[in-house]
Amino acid sequence: MIRFIAANKWFNSHHVLKNINLEISRGEVIVICGPSGAGKSTLLRTINKLEQIDEGEIIVDGMYLSDPKTDLTSLRAEIGMVFQHFNLYPHKSAIKNITLAPRKIRGLSKVQATERAHKLLEKVGLRHKSDAYPVQLSGGEQQRVAIARSLAMEPKIMLFDEPTSALDPELINEVLDVMISLAREGMTMVVVTHEIGFAQKVADRVVFMDNGEIIEIGTPPDIFVNPVHQRTRNFMSNVFHIPVFDFAREQESS
Ligand code: ADP
Ligand code: MG
Repeated sequence: MIRFIAANKWFNSHHVLKNINLEISRGEVIVICGPSGAGKSTLLRTINKLEQIDEGEIIVDGMYLSDPKTDLTSLRAEIGMVFQHFNLYPHKSAIKNITLAPRKIRGLSKVQATERAHKLLEKVGLRHKSDAYPVQLSGGEQQRVAIARSLAMEPKIMLFDEPTSALDPELINEVLDVMISLAREGMTMVVVTHEIGFAQKVADRVVFMDNGEIIEIGTPPDIFVNPVHQRTRNFMSNVFHIPVFDFAREQESS
């Protein structure tokens, strides 16, 4: 579904993505974690060509992103993206936020778009908030509207960039629950998050990145409990406060 082949990117002289090779299958849920500045957001943004790579290739659902003939509108119509900050249109109600793109880009009628939006609001647990404006919604509710808005375009892939990191702790689970049900329905998802519980519930694989590189890829237990590399172990113990046995001096050769 998504394939990175020797992808490299620089911001001026700063090498931000270093020889990225990664293949993501249809229906897979991938969690990306790693320290700030590792290149996680940049990696995510290359999938819908919000950022362009300088070397290598990315293929998304058969579309070669280096090919100038690849149509950006059709690429982006297949890919939903949810950010840390919800970016809802402040002067539009929840329902209007959701119906806008399907009407404009997919050509749905007002009735069709509204019907779809009501179903999606129901799905994210906000049926009763369809006429509320963003300012009247909590952060968790706004993020759930943002997810519904992405889903209204019927994407084949959903990208999430730290979708809960701006939320008050008590609002995180309501957003994660929506993401978990989406994962269980078979959506292909790439999620930058440090929510270990989410990863353990639904991630097929976890990618650990540091300094522009993929350091290791494995199942959630592989990465969170038994990481191979010292850099991964240090990160896990710092961020998740997971006690990890440091056998670096004996075993780490690289
Ligand atoms: P992460 O999401 O893992 O925190 P990012 O992908 O946002 O990392 O950033 C990776 C590196 O690229 C960082 O050092 C960041 O400062 C740099 N960077 C990100 N976006 C830009 C940009 N538009 N121009 C220049 N440097 C950038
Ligand atoms: Mg980021």
